[in-house]
Amino acid sequence: MKYGKVYLVGAGPGDESLITIKGLNAIKEAEVIVYDRLANPELLNHSTKNPELIYVGKASKDHTMTQENISQLLVDKAKEGKIVVRLKGGDPYVFGRGGEEGELLYDNKIEFEVIPGITSGIGGLAYAGIPITHRGHASSLHLITGHLKSEEDELNYEALAKLDGTLVFYMGVSNAKFIVKGLLKEGKNPSTPVAIVSLATLPEQSTFITDLKTIDENGLPSHIKPPSLIAIGTTIALRDKLNFFEKKPLHSKKIVVTRARAQSSLLVSRLKDLGARVIECPSIKISPVNEELLAKEINELREYTHIIFTSQNAVNIFMENLMNVKDIRAISHLKIGVVGSSTAKELLKYSLKADILPERFIAESLADEMKKHIDKSSKILIPCAEGARNVLKETLGEICEVKEVKIYKNEIEVIGDEIKDSIDDKVDFITFTSSSTVNHFYSMLDDSQKENIKRAKLVSIGPITSNTLRDNGFTDYIEAEKHDIEGVVNAILNEVKSHE
Ligand code: SAH
Repeated sequence: MKYGKVYLVGAGPGDESLITIKGLNAIKEAEVIVYDRLANPELLNHSTKNPELIYVGKASKDHTMTQENISQLLVDKAKEGKIVVRLKGGDPYVFGRGGEEGELLYDNKIEFEVIPGITSGIGGLAYAGIPITHRGHASSLHLITGHLKSEEDELNYEALAKLDGTLVFYMGVSNAKFIVKGLLKEGKNPSTPVAIVSLATLPEQSTFITDLKTIDENGLPSHIKPPSLIAIGTTIALRDKLNFFEKKPLHSKKIVVTRARAQSSLLVSRLKDLGARVIECPSIKISPVNEELLAKEINELREYTHIIFTSQNAVNIFMENLMNVKDIRAISHLKIGVVGSSTAKELLKYSLKADILPERFIAESLADEMKKHIDKSSKILIPCAEGARNVLKETLGEICEVKEVKIYKNEIEVIGDEIKDSIDDKVDFITFTSSSTVNHFYSMLDDSQKENIKRAKLVSIGPITSNTLRDNGFTDYIEAEKHDIEGVVNAILNEVKSHE
């Protein structure tokens, strides 16, 4: 059998979007992915070939695969003819033992490529606001392992202490005190700044600033845990100006998004951009229903004068069904009413502009607005969700003929244990963008989980969702001023600001 090929891929320092395009393409094509603890697991979601996923980092029972076994695994999988990606945190050759893997592949005549990654020592420092070199401050950079076998002098402290460049120690947390002592003994200035950057480039990144003398006297504070980088040098002082990442308004905030997956992307990406850790917990799933009924109405669209969309889903499902049998001209004579700006935006994707948009994004307000546009000869079609409120039908039905067609339903999405486990007492906000997200989210949690998230602030998109929160016994929530995604984001930002 023809041998496969191995790609040694650097996943970057943490944030999944800091991988290279070439690295991402390799993941897409991979049939086997062998990955580490430090490689962001979200990268695995980009695979397209349903690859075999093999975790070789430290497992829960502290059971680590030896380097020899990992290298051999790559050889074995390639010999099966597979395209193998060996995904490592940072860069594969920077304290990543990629060299050893490459050597064994070479010895076994297996083709391989190395795809470099941003090493944490450089990318992580940048995210901490520390330029690793700087004219006038540091003319060189030094990446050093702090993983020493014992207290004995393994590093050449004499040489290291003389350097005026930035020193970055990887794997140094447990030996920090020895490293610092070694440098001081060889004459390094005790007031040299030290930065310890933990979980660099991730929303949980934190940076602790101190100096050599303080570590020598007190060691590291106990809250500092691996993975952390220890940076030593004068450019650390520039952090006051250059620290862009930890200053993001939602940095380190943990936010649960309960929308259906298909709709959550805008909210998720806005919150991530603002620095938050987002847990996507899609408590509902959208499924089309009554397609025959809808097809019948689509064939009779000539009879209607107006159409109302009360959600983005309704727009998408209606348009999809329309395009199956006709095209957009079939609704050219209809005036279109929408309940809010997100729905209007969704329509724009089909090159359609809403004619009627209420002042407040709720059904009652739309009903008031619609009344100005209809008379008894009008006929309105409302494609909507099963179980949706029928305010529009009731109010407008007093004036003209209104037909509601339930074209989709919200079903409970099964949530994996991993997501459930991450809904813990560290959650700061839980966002609800409809009544059904409230009902489904809470029906999914057990009592202890409900207890766990007590300190989280609940965020409601608007009055109807807030009603449902109150019906469920939650009175302490914040409500978006504008009832759309931007409104939800702003409500969170305001809440955070008010506690600063
Ligand atoms: N190949 C990796 C390094 C692997 S050694 C790279 O190029 O970055 C593991 C050490 O890297 C950790 O002990 C820690 O010192 C550092 N490290 C990796 N990712 C890190 C992160 N996100 N934040 C802080 N340190 C990190």
